[in-house]
Amino acid sequence: MRLIEFTDKGLYCRPGNFYIDPWRPVEKAVITHAHSDHARAGSQSYLCHHHTKPLLRLRLGEHVIQGVEWNEPVRLGDVQISLHPAGHIIGSSQIRVEHKGEVWVVSGDYKLEDDGLSHPFEPVKCHSFISESTFGLPIYHWKPQQEIFEGIINWVNKNRENGKTSVLIAYSLGKAQRLIHGLKETAQPIFVHGAIWNIHQVLQDAGWKLPAVERLTADTPKDRYKGALVIAPPGAEGSPWMKRFYPYAAGVCSGWMQVRGHARRRNVDAGFALSDHADWTSLLTAVHATEADKVYVTHGFQSAFSRYLNENGIEAAEVKTEYGGEEEETAPAAAESENTATNE
Ligand SMILES: [Zn+2]
Ligand SMILES: [Zn+2]
Repeated sequence: MRLIEFTDKGLYCRPGNFYIDPWRPVEKAVITHAHSDHARAGSQSYLCHHHTKPLLRLRLGEHVIQGVEWNEPVRLGDVQISLHPAGHIIGSSQIRVEHKGEVWVVSGDYKLEDDGLSHPFEPVKCHSFISESTFGLPIYHWKPQQEIFEGIINWVNKNRENGKTSVLIAYSLGKAQRLIHGLKETAQPIFVHGAIWNIHQVLQDAGWKLPAVERLTADTPKDRYKGALVIAPPGAEGSPWMKRFYPYAAGVCSGWMQVRGHARRRNVDAGFALSDHADWTSLLTAVHATEADKVYVTHGFQSAFSRYLNENGIEAAEVKTEYGGEEEETAPAAAESENTATNE
């Protein structure tokens, strides 16, 4: 029997009697991070990193949540677990599970570039590694984040010269904080949508010293934000909420923007390929660093990534999960065919 089983409720550790990121309510849930496809309501108790705890409370409401530190050993049944930084968003953790000398690591979502907020990804040696594969195709290769931030600033400045407000679409948990942090010196003031404001407040209440942002309300005078940078979640894109910004330019911040034509297809003026997931090279780097004998590949380009690993001497298998369903960085329906199109 595997130490972690793939069940219809999620990743299950029988000797420890807990699930990792279950998609159905269970008795004991260990949570990698607070994105909605990994952290779902209704379980009896939760365990996560203490940075994730306030975010989980915001998203799930009142639940029993135990917060732990990174590298802190926790006993669950016959198993010892510990959490290790995944570098994906604030609080995001890999879960290390040890039983009778056998070690498994569940990555959740991860990236290798240090964003200054999430705590850098820590490679953890294991026998079996469960990896995401959101951007598990060789065409995905991120530029250094500093270059992307510079591109955004140039875009904002150009829009301002043309009398336009810049509206940047970014997922409210993760990407928005990364942008606010990365642009704090160059794009003041920064205005945010209420959904991003709520997360900002929760993090500040939890002790995070985040750069100042201004919340946009129906009463915010137009001349306050005219020509400035506004950050809004994907739900606001193309909604009546955007009308107040006319004339404006819209940009999307997502790894999918690396694929040519995506920005145009989404009917926005600019696309910035900034992702909180590992690109192809980083996925391979992470897998090698674990020295795992066996890799299980979850949500994303499972078949392409696991095939590549198998062909290159690392035993890998695809695993079907329900992750990736509600997150912004889920592959758009047509991603596969579009990816082929850009390889010309
Ligand atoms: Zn995520
Ligand atoms: Zn995910």
